[in-house]
Amino acid sequence: MDFILFKKSVPENVKIIAVSKTKPIKKIKQIYDLGHRDFGENKVQELVKKHEDLPNDINWHLIGKLQRNKVKYIAPFIHLIHSVDSERLLSRINKEGDKNNRIINVLLQIKISNDPLKTGFEYSELEDMFSSDTFLKYKFVKILGFMGMGSIDQSKNEEEFRKISDYFKEINKIHDIKYLSVGMSNDYKLAIKYNSNMIRIGSLIFGSRN
Ligand SMILES: *Cc1c(COP(=O)(O)O)cnc(C)c1O
Repeated sequence: MDFILFKKSVPENVKIIAVSKTKPIKKIKQIYDLGHRDFGENKVQELVKKHEDLPNDINWHLIGKLQRNKVKYIAPFIHLIHSVDSERLLSRINKEGDKNNRIINVLLQIKISNDPLKTGFEYSELEDMFSSDTFLKYKFVKILGFMGMGSIDQSKNEEEFRKISDYFKEINKIHDIKYLSVGMSNDYKLAIKYNSNMIRIGSLIFGSRN
């Protein structure tokens, strides 16, 4: 789809992350040249390479599973890590933030679907962590919100999106969090209906992947 038209069709308060995984530099540059600056990748190695090869005013988002031993490669420059799915990972990001003397922005990924390949915190785990102020000890991490991935089975999405939206609103009463990153090419309209204000769009912008 034409990127400008797509952007116009999305409410202004919704931040679009152009998911450029598997796509060549040339294609990313085309979207960059239209003024877009937020790009997402799901693999550390590919993200680091593209960060090196493209202009350095791009805001890079890591949206895929992150292994603790790879945090160090992105810690110096990453704009937002969407896929923080355990406290051990959070702790490692904090350590790398300290080393690089920068506060690293993150979203906590919540397991909103039962699909076996999707990870994330259970709501109950987060509940414990928020009520015990666990997060306060991580001085080099800033939690900006939540990320969720809906089930492949789209009939389940409405319930999943409503639930994470309600939770986002609830936590917002006590912690000032900004983003709810839910929604991909196939389900972003429904996600926006349920208060998602960050969407991760790949195939709709860049065409389908092989
Ligand atoms: C690939 C990917 C997307 C984008 O998927 P599309 O269906 O191409 O829009 C969004 N989020 C995550 C975590 C992804 O891995």
